[in-house]
Amino acid sequence: MTKTVVSNPDATPENAKAAAPAVAAAAAKSAKTWEYETTSSLGTVEIGRKLAELLPPPRLMILRGDLGAGKTTLVKGIATALGAAEADEVTSPTFTLVHEYSGTFDGKPMKLLHLDLYRLESERQLESLGLDEMQTPDALILIEWGEKFKSIKKRADGEIVITSAGGDSRKIVVTLN
Ligand code: ADP
Ligand code: MG
Repeated sequence: MTKTVVSNPDATPENAKAAAPAVAAAAAKSAKTWEYETTSSLGTVEIGRKLAELLPPPRLMILRGDLGAGKTTLVKGIATALGAAEADEVTSPTFTLVHEYSGTFDGKPMKLLHLDLYRLESERQLESLGLDEMQTPDALILIEWGEKFKSIKKRADGEIVITSAGGDSRKIVVTLN
């Protein structure tokens, strides 16, 4: 079972808090938020399929959530919707740091780059990963643990936050800057 709520970000308590500094207020005004709820892994994959439509390239998104929250599971859905991979072909890039897939968005060829920076420790290590070169006009870049790095937070177009609501239930909040 999945539930979708499209909300006015200016009305959420989250954004009300963020609205205090002038810069944050300006960002919150233009930001858009989508909220989803699910009670199963398959539900999360299904939400990922829907989310793909919201993420035309070029775009860089941070995927935020605890270990086991369902970040990689969500990417399975996004990848299948883009025709980039079958769900079971999408695995965690924990050791390789990045997995690249070819897909299509609106009939146009594009690339899906899935990163997991859990093991990366410093901005310097990040530099050698070559994120600049990955940010091409045809690339949708999804970065697990991207929030660890200031330079990624700066260039992100938004974030997808997954929180456990107990058992297999998850809340998924998408914010586009
Ligand atoms: P992450 O990438 O955030 O560390 P994964 O997607 O790799 O998380 O793993 C999520 C784990 O939680 C999987 O073992 C999955 O079966 C389980 N799970 C249970 N319920 C859900 C759910 N609603 N959405 C996603 N994963 C779920
Ligand atoms: Mg993962």
